[in-house]
Amino acid sequence: MRHNFGAGPCILPQEVFKQASQAVLDFKDGLSILEISHRTTEFEAVIEEATRLVKELLNVPEGYSVLFLQGGASLQFAMVPMNLLPEGQSASYLDTGVWASKAIKEVATFGKSNIVASSKSENYTFVPKDFQIPEDSAYFHCTSNNTIYGTEMFAMPETNVPIVCDMSSDILSRQIDVSKFGLIYAGAQKNIGPAGVTVVVVKDDILGKSGRKIPSMLDYKVHIDAGSLYNTPPVFSIYVAMLNLRWLKSKGGVAEIEKENIAKAQALYTEIDRNHLFKGTCSVEDRSRMNICFVMNNPELEKPFLKFVEENGVEGLKGHRSVGGFRASIYNALPITSVHHLIDLMQTFAEKHP
Ligand code: PMP
Repeated sequence: MRHNFGAGPCILPQEVFKQASQAVLDFKDGLSILEISHRTTEFEAVIEEATRLVKELLNVPEGYSVLFLQGGASLQFAMVPMNLLPEGQSASYLDTGVWASKAIKEVATFGKSNIVASSKSENYTFVPKDFQIPEDSAYFHCTSNNTIYGTEMFAMPETNVPIVCDMSSDILSRQIDVSKFGLIYAGAQKNIGPAGVTVVVVKDDILGKSGRKIPSMLDYKVHIDAGSLYNTPPVFSIYVAMLNLRWLKSKGGVAEIEKENIAKAQALYTEIDRNHLFKGTCSVEDRSRMNICFVMNNPELEKPFLKFVEENGVEGLKGHRSVGGFRASIYNALPITSVHHLIDLMQTFAEKHP
């Protein structure tokens, strides 16, 4: 058995893979999910259920729309300022990593960005907390979980400015209060489903204020009016996302998975702190529950350790090149038994290297 700690695309529940593969062969009356029209009543039921499940699982209040779009979270870096930043105004950004800075880069085409704080000089090992958001910002953008560095924002700032949040790598992993946000976006390929679709949750009344002409495919309002069916959507990705959302609901929803995620993260951080070979890379209060980054006190042991775990069923543990060491991504679908397996391997390796 392989234990998949990959950062994304990543593990999904085995039962979702089984149901998805069955639908490739026979979704309805012998027809594959890959050959049916997105205009059929069967697919309309799929996207309707997927939308309903996102609303239910995230507890989305009235006045918000849920969209399934394409272009990944990276397209949202541009769609956000295009739709929300009026000419001549500025948008505030918190710089907590590569993804945040890619989002900042896209603003220049549409207007000005104001970086309220950055942890770049410390290689993004913490999330800045003391910063001011100017009242006249069109919006404030942040990244709730920094996939590469393993930091997570557990509190949002108190502000009257609409908060726009990239939740690509921690959406549906813990409870959030959606009413605090103007817009949330997430590439699906962590806790939502397979790559190819992006979920956007947007407060309707923040739209329509940019004063800018927006191409139809990049206009949130066009997609809201069309119920995410303005053009051919990624049918299969949405179908698998729906299966995965059903799975999450059957597990007891976000509140239950959050408890498991806390237990998984605690177990692994405890071992990193206890084991003489390893150390964490981030400030303790900002440690992510989704991506756990760590290195070895003796860097020369890193290659042998990686080889050892890979020989023992562990996949995807190598850290991102900008951090080095290891990154254990422990998304919703990764069972706690896989975390225990990794901990056992860390202990066995430590016994061999006293
Ligand atoms: N934001 C975050 C936090 C991410 O982790 C990623 C991808 N891992 C992205 C944005 C980019 O997403 P995509 O590849 O879907 O454009």
